[in-house]
Amino acid sequence: MNDILPEETPRWQIVEGAFRQLMRAYGYDEIRMPLVEMTDLFKRSIGEVTDIVEKEMYTFVDRNGDSLSLRPEGTASCVRAAIQNGLLHNQIQKLWYGGPMFRHERPQKGRYRQFHQLGVEVFGLDGPDIDAEIIAMTARYWRELALEHKVKLEMNSLGSNEARAAYRDILVKYFGQHSEHLDEDSQRRLHSNPLRILDSKNPDMQDLIEAAPRLSEHLDESSQEHFAGLCTMLDDLGIEYVINPRLVRGLDYYNRTVFEWTTDQLGAQGTVCAGGRYDGLVAQLGGRATTAVGFALGLERLIALLDDARVAQAAQPPHAYFIVVGSEAVRTGFRLSEELRDNIPGLRLVMHTGGGSLKSQFKRADRSGAQLALILGDDELQAQTVAIKPLRTEQHQETVAQDQLTQWLSKYIHSN
Ligand code: ATP
Ligand code: MG
Repeated sequence: MNDILPEETPRWQIVEGAFRQLMRAYGYDEIRMPLVEMTDLFKRSIGEVTDIVEKEMYTFVDRNGDSLSLRPEGTASCVRAAIQNGLLHNQIQKLWYGGPMFRHERPQKGRYRQFHQLGVEVFGLDGPDIDAEIIAMTARYWRELALEHKVKLEMNSLGSNEARAAYRDILVKYFGQHSEHLDEDSQRRLHSNPLRILDSKNPDMQDLIEAAPRLSEHLDESSQEHFAGLCTMLDDLGIEYVINPRLVRGLDYYNRTVFEWTTDQLGAQGTVCAGGRYDGLVAQLGGRATTAVGFALGLERLIALLDDARVAQAAQPPHAYFIVVGSEAVRTGFRLSEELRDNIPGLRLVMHTGGGSLKSQFKRADRSGAQLALILGDDELQAQTVAIKPLRTEQHQETVAQDQLTQWLSKYIHSN
């Protein structure tokens, strides 16, 4: 679990800020869920025989003897919250959330024990148009972050539950015939959850998985139509995708559409965004049957992909740094600073605190990245002026009357 230090937070603010704006642009509402839920919720939704539930959850018994877990993902909590708060009674909900998730994984690049996701969940819509909308929304997000050339979209359809059940039997038969080539995890899953075997990351298993019967050949007709509808809409929007018949996702609740945005720039941890339909989950968790679709994106991986140029473009150093030499100047400077902030919306002004010589304050002003130094020393106090020195250009220092400072600075900000 990592501290996120001040030098890194600008990157976080960029991805979070762009996401908020994206959600406004599409009319999605924010929901915030607790970080902790009853363990049972995750067992029932994500699935008992998944990596997450089998070996990655932070589970503990609280003072009442209840088994609780830190949330390993957001969908289960969001469904629980929507059911419990009556958000699903004949209503369509388009929701988003963000925050930390917890999984006890082996830490490595792109894989942490506390990581962060931004996610979207839509309830009450079953057509492929909403699948297309959330995918288009992610594509727009990559463009906004200048990442569109680093990621590609993979999609698959898992079909209806019935089609999956039939396919499951076919898989059990196939992998059963090759059981000597199955690793330990896959042996165990052969009967409990054979679809999971397709999701194995073990390189030794890849040939066997590649040759396995494909779910796409056993898809029910209405799921086929649904998927074809989605593909057509993405074609209309010019969004490129690759159909990957091996894509099954690491959680049990998905049906029909599943998708991942992947990158080849982060080594093995290449999935930056993943999602799909989970039409059965609301009913499974005790709500009235409600179709649903969503995705989550992993912020650590996204941030690792961000170009320094994109970060620099978003940088917002102070407009001005107020240098105040002497105790009288501190008092006047303070008063003027507050007045400036009152009167100039959006002004970014750092007031020097902690005293020190003119020279040492200049050093601080320079390090702050400010465009201007406002200087208040004995001479300026006497004359009721402020000296203004541009720190990033060759322009000359100017002297401005204190009662003209707001006007001067506001004009400066609007023309720079
Ligand atoms: P992976 O196959 O990489 O383990 P997953 O299928 O477990 O991913 P999801 O549960 O679908 O991942 O989570 C969605 C996204 O959250 C992932 O695509 C990834 O970007 C991010 N993510 C998942 N686990 C971690 C982790 N331990 N550390 C950092 N990011 C993670
Ligand atoms: Mg995982």
